Amino acid sequence: MNTKRSAVLFDKARTVIPGGVNSPVRACKSVGCDPLFVAGAQGCMITDVDGNEFIDFVGSWGPMILGHSHPDVIKAICETAPHGTSFGAPCPLEVELAELVCDSVPSLEKIRFVSSGTEATMSAVRLARGYTGRNMVIKFDGCYHGHADSFLVKAGSGIITLGIPGSPGVPDDIVKNTLSIPYNNIEVLEQTLRDAKLDIACVIVEPVAGNMGVVVPEQAFLQKLRDLTKELGIVLIFDEVITGFRLALGGAQERFNIMPDLTCLGKIIGGGLPVGAYGGKAEIMDNIAPDGPVYQAGTLSGNPLAMAAGLAMLKVLREPGFYQELEEKSNWYVEQLTAITADSPVPTVLNRIGSMMTCFFTSAPVTDFESAMKADTERYGQHFRQMLSAGVWLAPSQFEAAFVSAAHDRTHLQKALEMTESSFKKLANM
Ligand SMILES: *Cc1c(COP(=O)(O)O)cnc(C)c1O
Repeated sequence: MNTKRSAVLFDKARTVIPGGVNSPVRACKSVGCDPLFVAGAQGCMITDVDGNEFIDFVGSWGPMILGHSHPDVIKAICETAPHGTSFGAPCPLEVELAELVCDSVPSLEKIRFVSSGTEATMSAVRLARGYTGRNMVIKFDGCYHGHADSFLVKAGSGIITLGIPGSPGVPDDIVKNTLSIPYNNIEVLEQTLRDAKLDIACVIVEPVAGNMGVVVPEQAFLQKLRDLTKELGIVLIFDEVITGFRLALGGAQERFNIMPDLTCLGKIIGGGLPVGAYGGKAEIMDNIAPDGPVYQAGTLSGNPLAMAAGLAMLKVLREPGFYQELEEKSNWYVEQLTAITADSPVPTVLNRIGSMMTCFFTSAPVTDFESAMKADTERYGQHFRQMLSAGVWLAPSQFEAAFVSAAHDRTHLQKALEMTESSFKKLANM
């Protein structure tokens, strides 16, 4: 594969951008290669600046559930742009999207738009603290909630990929107000939440973890989490930045039928433009300025281009049968994939729900951070490089999800399966 142009760009980028990238995992360090620079993407295909084409299973880390450059989304952006790109004043599209999102996600009564998932989670936590008058935040090992100070404790995503335990620059005084406990562990959960000395404001959780690779919770774990937080007056925050509009129109809360107090959204909600949101019960949301004392603001929040893209996206997702079709296609793909991996002497565990999945290079079930960390990242790196040179674009980290989109048709998926089979054969001989 010729990657000359990417190499030149990467050299240049490194002189002006730390690590040459604007988000760390993109640098591909953990899979032992240099990043490819993207020229464009259409449907489920992504093309680099040297003209190499790949079947994309990253989907911009989640947003591209319709595939890249969906005509409705592009049209909405193009029709909105000539009327102005930011007003710093309310615009009609914000109301329309807010109504549609609240109608789609069962627990949402009110919603506030921000510009990223990170902003959504940090604002939701501030709100939970303001509302309860308490300080402590409980999170789970291996869950990632963006890069705000309070969350960089045993966090997933790039933090695991790069093997960073926390982050310098985050004061101990802040971290002492965050407690991270194991995912899927009901016993530790109950002990922790019942400890009155902790002064717990909220629990934030990925209702299906996607940032230590896909880890599906036990229904009983999520239910216990809901029951205990309700009993103890602790705000339950579902971080549905990945799972929102991914696992169902109403996200994981619809799929598991468990309603949080607050929900964080991002990724899909903006149709590929920078949008995040947090919302929930009106009783809690009404504590945000200007109605209440909890401050949160944003110059570009509710940006008209982003709202237009999100609206166009959501309208397609709300078409009857959309999720059923995606589910059936993913079922078929995962069945085929399972046949390949189960046949191979290379030990793997395939975790999957709906259209998100992770193939862990390990032999024991992956149910939490500790078991995820047993995965053989060297082997994942080899698999990643083999797949890339065969034309499949996977996440450059073992601890991320692969996504099937509406734009992946059987032909693409069949091709990806063939490439997977041949990569596994090579791995078995290494
Ligand atoms: C991606 C992600 C975030 C952070 O969103 P950004 O838009 O990258 O700031 C937060 N929570 C979860 C679960 C995510 O997957």
